[in-house]
Amino acid sequence: MTVLLPGATLGVMGGGQLGRMFVHAAQRMGYFTAVLDPDPASPAGLVSHYHIQTGYLDEQGLAQLMQRSAAITTEFENVPAPALVTLGAHRAVAPDANAVAIAQDRAMEKAHFQRCGVACAPHAVIRSAEQLAAVGDELLPGVLKTARLGYDGKGQARVATRQELAAAWDQLQRVPCVLEQLLPLAAECSVIVARGHDGRMVNLPPQLNLHRDGILAVTQAYADCLPAATARLAIEATLSIADGLRYAGVLCVEFFLLQDGSLVVNEMAPRPHNSGHYSMDACDVSQFELQVRTLAGLPLPPPRQHSPAIMLNLLGDLWYVGGETETSPPWDRVLALPGMHLHLYGKLSARRGRKMGHLTVTAPTVDAVRAAALEAAQILGIEPF
Ligand code: ATP
Ligand code: MG
Repeated sequence: MTVLLPGATLGVMGGGQLGRMFVHAAQRMGYFTAVLDPDPASPAGLVSHYHIQTGYLDEQGLAQLMQRSAAITTEFENVPAPALVTLGAHRAVAPDANAVAIAQDRAMEKAHFQRCGVACAPHAVIRSAEQLAAVGDELLPGVLKTARLGYDGKGQARVATRQELAAAWDQLQRVPCVLEQLLPLAAECSVIVARGHDGRMVNLPPQLNLHRDGILAVTQAYADCLPAATARLAIEATLSIADGLRYAGVLCVEFFLLQDGSLVVNEMAPRPHNSGHYSMDACDVSQFELQVRTLAGLPLPPPRQHSPAIMLNLLGDLWYVGGETETSPPWDRVLALPGMHLHLYGKLSARRGRKMGHLTVTAPTVDAVRAAALEAAQILGIEPF
């Protein structure tokens, strides 16, 4: 692949916050950007040089994106794989349609993990009433998840009995699902890897993730935030999952750390991830710059984290702490603390559960970063962790 030097235009499918941060990283390095997203107020569309406002399968829109862009990436998981096939016939596309299609389907994703020799939760694929009836007892209690289009814990139900399982599948309109055994979690973590077209891989340090109500709430990233052996295993598993896909681009792999100390892979996202946002302020290369570099065919030196970091996800709920009317959180009080890096995504209105931004806290020591992050959390009305 030829190297695309700054001055070229990089395209992205999707205009959400991940696309916005990709655009920021690309523009900082002197690239031009083109975003395809139907929403005129999309966070990335608002800051991109070009914004093509069509649907993801619109032929004219895809043609315009190709005309503008020397290479194209994606920023959301559910970008239609056929669109990537169309784009990939004429332009460098990273990640490719095949990798995205696997990540879009929990059944295919788990099969890939197993091919790579990485343990995932015991599970069964449910596509028919026969398969539902044949589910083994050991999978209950379990979590029933739609095979496709789930996010932030949506499209999931916890089930304790066969009766609940059947009712939950009805509730999910009997779409193809995966039933996973409910695992005794001690913690969750994730690893971000970037893999170039030439197969070279670099990773960010593993991060410890706290989810609340199925949504990432807090990410902690510093030395010893995970046992060293766990961190090593998670990195090895992530590298083999990326390599097994002959992946190009940035990939995030999420893991469960079980109470017995073992590590189990949960899922992967074929793009930068919420849990890697700390890299923008705490590492010498961010996950978004890694995405730019992989897309442009630039070198991938190993990232270095220079500060302990804690990321607080800023959900729309924080705009309603004081009551029913939308009120901006007290950013002035938060920004009075040292080491605060505020990222707001430019969304025009807050809704409960909506990802409005994130706050990364950095400090010279782990104790200091925890103290500052807890203070910021208290000001914002985020529960301590
Ligand atoms: P996202 O894409 O936003 O990360 P998602 O909707 O794909 O989320 P999952 O990652 O599958 O959902 O699950 C959300 C959370 O639910 C997990 O982070 C974990 O806390 C919990 N969870 C999911 N599956 C299991 C399981 N088998 N056992 C125990 N807890 C689980
Ligand atoms: Mg998840």
